[in-house]
Amino acid sequence: MPDFSITPEIRDMRQKVTAFMEEHIYPNEPYLMEAGAEGAGLIKDLQGKTKAMGMWAPHLPAEAGGMGIGFMPYVYINEVLGRSPFAPLAFGSQAPDSGNAEILWLFGTDEQKERWLKPLVAGEIRSCFSMTEPEVAGSDPTLLQTRAVRDGDEWVINGHKWFTSGAQGAAFAIVMCVSDADGAPHQRMSQIIVPTDTPGFNLVRVVPVMGETLGNHCEIRYEDCRVPVTNTLGNPGDGFMIAQKRLGPGRIHHCMRWLGQMQRAFELMCKRALERYAFGGTLAEKQTVQNWIADSAAEIQAARLLTLHAAHKIDQGNEARVEISLIKFFGAKVLHDVIDRAIQVHGALGVTGDTPLESMYRAARLGRIYDGPDEVHRMVVARRVLQAFRQAGTWEFT
Ligand SMILES: Cc1cc2nc3c(=O)[nH]c(=O)nc-3n(C[C@H](O)[C@H](O)[C@H](O)COP(=O)(O)OP(=O)(O)OC[C@H]3O[C@@H](n4cnc5c(N)ncnc54)[C@H](O)[C@@H]3O)c2cc1C
Repeated sequence: MPDFSITPEIRDMRQKVTAFMEEHIYPNEPYLMEAGAEGAGLIKDLQGKTKAMGMWAPHLPAEAGGMGIGFMPYVYINEVLGRSPFAPLAFGSQAPDSGNAEILWLFGTDEQKERWLKPLVAGEIRSCFSMTEPEVAGSDPTLLQTRAVRDGDEWVINGHKWFTSGAQGAAFAIVMCVSDADGAPHQRMSQIIVPTDTPGFNLVRVVPVMGETLGNHCEIRYEDCRVPVTNTLGNPGDGFMIAQKRLGPGRIHHCMRWLGQMQRAFELMCKRALERYAFGGTLAEKQTVQNWIADSAAEIQAARLLTLHAAHKIDQGNEARVEISLIKFFGAKVLHDVIDRAIQVHGALGVTGDTPLESMYRAARLGRIYDGPDEVHRMVVARRVLQAFRQAGTWEFT
């Protein structure tokens, strides 16, 4: 059994993060919810504070400008950050910048790192990841249609993307393109860095999306958009391989943050159950409510252990495909169900903006779709398990 114990260093960091959340994040949530992009000044101020504390970019290796704590210990930090949608911004670990920084660190040339990674990690610029297209099923990226055609030393990109999160205000996009139309399905794509001020990068609209406090999911048309071939991330044809490297850790980062959301909803549910009085006793005395609390406790604990387990495997150099898919669909369901029960215990109050539950609930619904819908992750798990049975007649739980 892996050792999930928290080291004294991580315990200390966790306490610092918790204290920061209590002093600077929770009290500012109502303002930041209202202010949207206007709240950027406050976020910058908070970022200055986290940098001064040495608590910046906890997801990245130290050589890349992060805290270098590793994946498994990051669960213990990120589950605290995940309690508020604003905390990852303050700590420099928000998606999609976190995933883009990771792939630039792994695959970027020295020049790309200097120009894009350094200011990204420093929080001076933002970025976006442009893969999904409205015309084809995002679940099956072999269908993507955006083309990059070589013309001398340049790529000429044409295509239609949407759900490019964070595109408005981003300095660059990493765009998934078909660069070799005749190549094998998993070798025909490249990831190309496109500065957003490049002519032909046309932001059509911010797509209105349910539940998004910080929503900035954009539709983009790439129209004869020219960038130097030196903007290719890795080698031409590496697009799929890099996407896998990005999406695996990206998914588990979401699951870590969801743990924080589940725990916050759970705490609100328990507190309300103890306070609210009806039919001769508190809600905490009703068996149905007790069942919700017990079921939630069991499910949160299971999600937490699954997340730690997947993170531990990644730290050991394992791709952890099955473990990541397990926690992606299981975590999304637990997240939804716990928040749903917490809302029910709050009655009408639960659907007002007077608690964070209603916005948490709307955001939780998205978790079942982004970074791969539930059904695709179940498919990944089932395929791998069945493959093992075909080959060895068994599946070993490790
Ligand atoms: C909030 C949010 C943020 C996002 N951010 C980004 C981003 O920054 N960059 C980016 O490129 N994309 C982003 N996406 C897009 C996301 O990755 C896609 O929505 C996702 O991959 C699913 O693709 P699709 O929407 O085209 O659904 P489709 O592929 O059309 O799938 C529709 C439905 O079909 C079902 N389905 C699909 N495959 C199977 C199967 N094998 N078995 C059974 N059922 C199946 C599922 O129920 C699925 O929900 C974001 C999406 C959301 C909601």
